[in-house]
Amino acid sequence: PGPDPEHLLTGLNPQQRDAVVHTGSPLLVVAGAGSGKTRVLTHRIAYLLANGAHPGQIMAITFTNKAAAEMKERVVELVGRRANAMWVSTFHSMCVRVLRRECKTLGLSSSFSIYDADDSRRLITMIARELELDSKRYPARTLAVQISNLKNELVDPETAAERAGNDMERKVAQVYEAYQRRLADSNALDFDDLIMRTVELLQHHPAVAEHYRRRFRHVLVDEYQDTNHAQYVLVRELVGTGPTDSGVEPAELCVVGDADQSIYAFRGATIRNIEEFERDYPQARTILLEQNYRSTQTILSAANAVIRRNPNRRDKRLWSDAGDGEAIVGYVADNEHDEAAFVAGEIDRLVDDGTATFNDIAVFYRTNNQSRVFEEVFIRLGLPYRVVGGVRFYERREVRDALAYLRVLDNPDDTVSLRRILNVPKRGIGDRAEAVVAAHADQERISFASALRQAAAGKVDALNTRARRAIAGFVDLLDELRSVAVESDVAEVLEQVLERTGYRAELDASDDPQDATRLENLTELVTVAREFTEARGGGAEPTGGEAEPSAEAVVAAATPAAEDAEEETLGLPADDSLSAFLERVSLVADADSLPESGDGVVTLMTLHTAKGLEFPVVFLTGWEDGVFPHMRALGEPAEQAEERRLAYVGITRARQQLYVSRALMRSAWGQPMTNPASRFLTEIPEELVQWRRVEPERAAPQVRSTWGGRRADRTGSDSAQAGLAAHGMRSTPAKGWKDAVAIKLAAGDRVTHDKYGLGTVLSTEGEGPRATATIDFGSAGTVKLMLIGSVPLTKL
Ligand code: ATP
Ligand code: MG
Repeated sequence: PGPDPEHLLTGLNPQQRDAVVHTGSPLLVVAGAGSGKTRVLTHRIAYLLANGAHPGQIMAITFTNKAAAEMKERVVELVGRRANAMWVSTFHSMCVRVLRRECKTLGLSSSFSIYDADDSRRLITMIARELELDSKRYPARTLAVQISNLKNELVDPETAAERAGNDMERKVAQVYEAYQRRLADSNALDFDDLIMRTVELLQHHPAVAEHYRRRFRHVLVDEYQDTNHAQYVLVRELVGTGPTDSGVEPAELCVVGDADQSIYAFRGATIRNIEEFERDYPQARTILLEQNYRSTQTILSAANAVIRRNPNRRDKRLWSDAGDGEAIVGYVADNEHDEAAFVAGEIDRLVDDGTATFNDIAVFYRTNNQSRVFEEVFIRLGLPYRVVGGVRFYERREVRDALAYLRVLDNPDDTVSLRRILNVPKRGIGDRAEAVVAAHADQERISFASALRQAAAGKVDALNTRARRAIAGFVDLLDELRSVAVESDVAEVLEQVLERTGYRAELDASDDPQDATRLENLTELVTVAREFTEARGGGAEPTGGEAEPSAEAVVAAATPAAEDAEEETLGLPADDSLSAFLERVSLVADADSLPESGDGVVTLMTLHTAKGLEFPVVFLTGWEDGVFPHMRALGEPAEQAEERRLAYVGITRARQQLYVSRALMRSAWGQPMTNPASRFLTEIPEELVQWRRVEPERAAPQVRSTWGGRRADRTGSDSAQAGLAAHGMRSTPAKGWKDAVAIKLAAGDRVTHDKYGLGTVLSTEGEGPRATATIDFGSAGTVKLMLIGSVPLTKL
C-alpha cells in the first residue's frame, strides 16, 4: 500500500502544488534560487509513484551524482524502497547506462573505455604531433576545447570540415576527424561522445528510441539552465514530439531551472534551452515560484540587487518570510592571509558560542588555487575542513597510472592507456621504440596493442633486440594480469598490478616524501576498489545497466513492471566488475566528494561547485575585481554577466548568515597585486552590510614606498567608522590607486610580462582601478590584464 498521494502535497505552496500534480503537457518550472525547484521535482516523482506510475517509468536527471543519490534517497523516504528502480542520474551516467546496453547497435564493444579531459588531450597531442602541427599555433588544449564545442553542438567531423572558414577551423576539423577515428580504434568514448552517441542512437534507430519512449513515461530534469545543445536534443529525442509509428505518445517532461543561475556557458550550456522551452514544446505550461524558503530577506535583497544589473533578463520577484535576519558581514583584509585568518577566527567564534556547527559552514572562492591559504590557516588553528575539488584524487598521477592498467586489462584496444603505462614503471621501452611500434600500427592498419604483440614476436624490423625483449616482457606481463582479472575481484587485480609491475616496489624504495604520499593514495584506491566490490556483493545498489538486456532483446517484451522485475533480479556477472568499477570512477565529479553531513567539517569549494547546495553560514571570499569577477571577464560583457550569475549563486547558498570579504593585496604569479573591490561588492546595497573592517586611509607616497610591507591600521574595525564607508572603501578611494597605477599603455605598445613574455598591446579599456589592456603574447595567447598595481609587466 503506497502512501496517501495527498499527503505528499502538504507543506507545499499553491504554485509548488500545481507543479507537482500537473499532468499531460510538458512543464517548465522557472524560479529563483531556493524557491523549492528541486523539492518540487522530488515531490513530483513521489506523487507520480503514489498515483500508480511504476518506478521503472521514471527517469530523472540531476547535475551531479551526489544530487542524484540524494534525490533518490528522498523519494525512497517518501514512498518506500521500490523507488530504487528509478533511473536518477546525471546526463553522463544515464548515457553510459544506455550505451552499455545498446553498444552493439553502434558497433561498440560493451567494455568501451571512457576518456576524460586528460585522456582526450593526450590523444589529441599524439594526433597533432603526427600531423606535424605547430604546437604553439595549435595548442592541444585549444584543439580539445574546439572539438568539445563542436560535439556539444552535435557537429560531426565532416560537417565541421565543410563549415571551416579559416585555417584554425580547418585544422580543428582535421584533428577532429582523426581523433574520432582513433577513439573508435581504441574502443573509447570521451565525455562529449557519451551524449552525442546516445543522441545518434535515438535518432537513427527508431526501434531503440521507441523502446525507451515506451519505457520512460516521465522524464524530469533539474538545473535545466545548464544544459547544452546536445543535452537539449537528447531530452527531446527521449521524450518525443509526437506519437511514434506504432502510436507511443510522447513522455511527460518536467524541467526546472533558473536562467540567473546559468554558470556553465564555458562548457556550452545555453540558457536558450530554458528561455525557449515554450517554443520547443508548444503545448508547454510554465509555473513560476516566487517564495524563497532558504534565505533571510537581507541575503535575498543582496542577491536581487546584484543580479538585477545583468541585461536582458526577466526580473523575478523573490521574497522570503524568514525575516530580515542578520546583516551581511563585510571585511576588507590587508592580504589573502589576513582574509583567511579573519574567516578562521569567525568560524572558531561561531562554533564556540554555539551559533553554528562546522558542518553548517562553507567557504567559497572563485578558483581552486585560492583554497591553499585557507587550508594553511585551518591546519594551524586545528579547524576541521574538507576541500571539495581541486587536484582531484582521480587526477593524481599514480592513481591514473594504476587505473590505466585496469583499463588496458578491461579493454585491450585502449591505446591512450596502453601508451601511458608502456614504460611505467621504466622497463626499457623508450620513446623511439614506442614511435616505431606506433608507425607499424599505422602502416599495417592494426591497433597499437596488436603492433606491440608483433613487435614482441620479432616481426617489427626497426627494433633492436633490447627493445624487443622489453616489449615481449611487457606483453607477457599484461597476459598474466589479464588471467588474474578473469578470476579475481577489482581490489585483488589492483594489488596484483601494483605488485607484478614493480610499481609499488619502486615507490617503496624511494626516499622522496612525495612518493610516500603516492603510496598512500594507491592504498586508498585499493580501499575504494574493495568497498566497491563489497557494495556490489551486498547487492546494495544496482550499479548500472551493464547486465540489462538491450532494447532489441526486450523490445517486444512487455509491461514496464516485467522489465523492472528483470532489472532487480538480474545479478551482475563477476567478470563485469572491472568495467563497472572503471565506469564508476570515470564519472566521479568534484561535487561528488562532498562530505556527508555529520562529518563535522567546514566545506571549502569553488562557487561553481556550490550550485544547488545550501549552508546556514557562507563566507564569500576574494571579492576583488580581477579575482572575482575573473580577470578574463573584465571588459567582456557576456563573461561578466556569467560571473555576476555566479555571484548570485554564491550569495543565495546562504541561509542565515553571509560574510563577504576581499583583500587589498593578493599574490599572483608570485608577486603582490593590489586589487580593487569587486564590482559585485559595490552592487550590494550599503545598508545590508555591516563592515567589520574597511579599507584604511592610504596616503599616496606611502603606497609607493612601502609596497607590500605596509601594515594596515587595525583600529578601523569599529562599526561606527564602518558606517561612513560604502562597500568597505573610504569616501576618497581614488587617492591610493591613482598613484598605484604603474603602467599606462596604448594600442601598439610592446611589453614584457614575467609569466607570458613578450607581447603587443591590442587595445586598452577603462580608467583608474578598472583599466585593462588586451595583450597578444604570441604563443602564450591573448591575455587581458588589469593595469592597476604591480602587474609584473614592463613597457618596452
Ligand atoms: P536552487 O535554485 O538553489 O537549486 P531550489 O529552487 O532547487 O534552489 P530547493 O533546494 O528545492 O530550492 O529548496 C530550498 C530550501 O527550501 C530547501 O531547504 C527546501 O527544503 C526548502 N523548501 C522548499 N519549499 C518549501 C516549502 N514549501 N516549505 C518549506 N520549505 C521549503
Ligand atoms: Mg535546486
